[in-house]
Amino acid sequence: MLFVEVALKVPLHRTFDYKIDPNITVHKGCRVWVTFANRKLVAMVVDIKAKTDVPENKIKAITSVIDERPIVSDAYLTFLKFTARYYCHSLGETIFTALPASLRQGEHPDKTQVPNYTLTEEGKASPKLRAKKQLALIEHLKGSGVTSLTELKALGFTTQQIKPLKEKGFIAEAINHCEAWSSHTLEIANKPRLNEEQAAICAAVNQQTGYRTFLIEGVTGSGKTEVYLQCLEKILNAGKQALILVPEIGLTPQTVNRFRRRFPNTPIDLWHSNLTDNERLHTWRRAEQGSSALVIATRSGIFLPFKSLGMVVVDEEHDGSFKQQDGLRYHARDLAVYRCATQQIPLLLGTATPALETLHNALNNKYQLVSLTKRAQTKVDNAYLLIDMKGQPHQNGFAPTTLQHIERTLARGKQVMVFLNRRGYAPTLMCHECGWLSECHRCSASATYHKSMSRLVCHHCGEQSYVPPQCVDCGSTNILPVGLGTEQVEQFLELQFPDTPLSRIDRDSTRRKGALEEALNEINEGGARILVGTQMLAKGHHFADVSLVIILDVDSGLYSSDFRATEHMAQLITQVAGRAGRSGEPGTVLLQTHYCEHPLLQDLVNNGYGDFARYALKEREEVALPPFSFLALIRAEANNAKLVIDFLSDLVPASPFSGIQLLGPIPAPMERVAGKYRYQLHIQAQDRAILHSYLTQLLAYVDKHPLANRLRWSIDIDPMDT
Ligand code: ADP
Ligand code: ZN
Ligand code: ZN
Repeated sequence: MLFVEVALKVPLHRTFDYKIDPNITVHKGCRVWVTFANRKLVAMVVDIKAKTDVPENKIKAITSVIDERPIVSDAYLTFLKFTARYYCHSLGETIFTALPASLRQGEHPDKTQVPNYTLTEEGKASPKLRAKKQLALIEHLKGSGVTSLTELKALGFTTQQIKPLKEKGFIAEAINHCEAWSSHTLEIANKPRLNEEQAAICAAVNQQTGYRTFLIEGVTGSGKTEVYLQCLEKILNAGKQALILVPEIGLTPQTVNRFRRRFPNTPIDLWHSNLTDNERLHTWRRAEQGSSALVIATRSGIFLPFKSLGMVVVDEEHDGSFKQQDGLRYHARDLAVYRCATQQIPLLLGTATPALETLHNALNNKYQLVSLTKRAQTKVDNAYLLIDMKGQPHQNGFAPTTLQHIERTLARGKQVMVFLNRRGYAPTLMCHECGWLSECHRCSASATYHKSMSRLVCHHCGEQSYVPPQCVDCGSTNILPVGLGTEQVEQFLELQFPDTPLSRIDRDSTRRKGALEEALNEINEGGARILVGTQMLAKGHHFADVSLVIILDVDSGLYSSDFRATEHMAQLITQVAGRAGRSGEPGTVLLQTHYCEHPLLQDLVNNGYGDFARYALKEREEVALPPFSFLALIRAEANNAKLVIDFLSDLVPASPFSGIQLLGPIPAPMERVAGKYRYQLHIQAQDRAILHSYLTQLLAYVDKHPLANRLRWSIDIDPMDT
């Protein structure tokens, strides 16, 4: 008799043995059907063995084999086993998070094909077309030859534009097969000469055989992407594959376009949350078969099963979106380090504002720090200006000086960007008579006033309610909005500058599909002169004409209970500032604050992010916070607060564990969300091995805990929001 050890999508921290008829062939990395707790489940075979500890009368046979050949390699399974161990997550849930949905459901890996498009002879003859987008599509195909539907969609084309071209016979559909791509056809186009700094980095990377992580610290526009592109040449020439991780794809067709224009005939595949299940399976399979040369992906792309991975690039490595915030709470950048180290390949991390963890590793020579200090195309630096708000009169959050700057910039025909990380009209309503505040009754948070909808909306649970005509407590009609949101900023600026077209970009204004693209196009075509937005505006867009950037409220980031708040504020300020001054003349960045003399703020504006970050690291060291210690968080929530506190209290051992500091249970930063009470336990250690061995014991205990099934709990290793 033979036995298979399988991983199942269940939260238990263990695998399960089943028996299998010795006449049936099955391998590690194949899926099988099994019954578990009277349910039929897809299971992944992680080992095949001759013996089991399960008694003979208890062990069940597998139901059937799904895959004749493994769908993932041994090395890939090892990577997932590491991931599960590191993040203290069940192996089964880890594997089933990594697999695309169709494979989780037991579908055949070659079930789907995604069409490619190419120009017909009629299409190549530059047909006269009225629709601009259709012309652009023809132009694109002229440059790139065969292009997949997913790539066309990522570039902003829609099936409504593709279909008529196909019907008129200008473009033809071809099947996008999973064939291994061959590097001897590699074409390289539109390649500039590197400047000295760039060339030095490429030389260092190209020299590298085996694993090395490079941190490329370079301001926005200093040519990091160009460095990635030229480092990739060596990898592609060797017939290897590369993974490019980016924070966002849907918003930035420029990225995809850039890679396509450089490598016109290279198979590029995409991986992001807007793909259909079929499209995802297709990219997954093409990576596994060695058919894609480049995959441009968001966070979960780190789990693609490449056949011969040669390099990973993480662009904007500091970006919070690389950390998954539920289920398997992994960090794609950190997993990239493990993956590259085990595969002995280089890893490029690029950013203008390195995460303190990453910078720490670079300063310790665990990573190699390389810098780009000049902007590639413009020679100018932006100027920071702190606007002291103390005791100043202000109108709807704008100091008089700020308004003068806007006026002057507009008069010169330039664009102005106003940044505020709060959508809605005002974060709360207040009764002027008794001090009543609009609060969400399900969360420990205020309900935001949305004037255009005449609603109060909770930004944490989504609950909406009508704006009360009178104070709920005292009946007064004297109810006022308190604080500032983007909607109010928009209305105020429209009144101040009635003849200036304005565009607001936040989650409310871009809810409709395609609305964001339209707004961005309008801005790029020079329509809108004032741009108001939340951090959606900060993400990597190139707006040529912006020469004034205003950050209305810096203070919320300076004084927060989260020890990462200043780091994130500094990153945001620097990234937003990077939007200014792209057209060749220096940009101005205005920061409104009540704390002009704050040392971190002073350091940031006078000496730049790099200096700020090194100073902030010293502060972290003094108080032994990450990256000078290691942190894990156990979170729990339920409708009943006592249950949560009892559960977490019970996890705190009676006598201390050497090398471990425990704090809690303490209320989560938002104690109540959607009616549920939330508490957490902080577990900190100076040594990662001690932290992990402690957590392993703790998890074995939690798995059997009688309260564990009565509430929701989770564990977060290296949490980003504490
Ligand atoms: P980053 O990724 O750091 O923001 P990019 O690589 O996008 O910077 O470069 C900014 C701009 O400068 C782009 O338009 C790019 O094409 C151009 N550029 C980068 N390097 C060079 C170079 N060596 N010669 C000419 N132009 C360059
Ligand atoms: Zn009142
Ligand atoms: Zn709420």
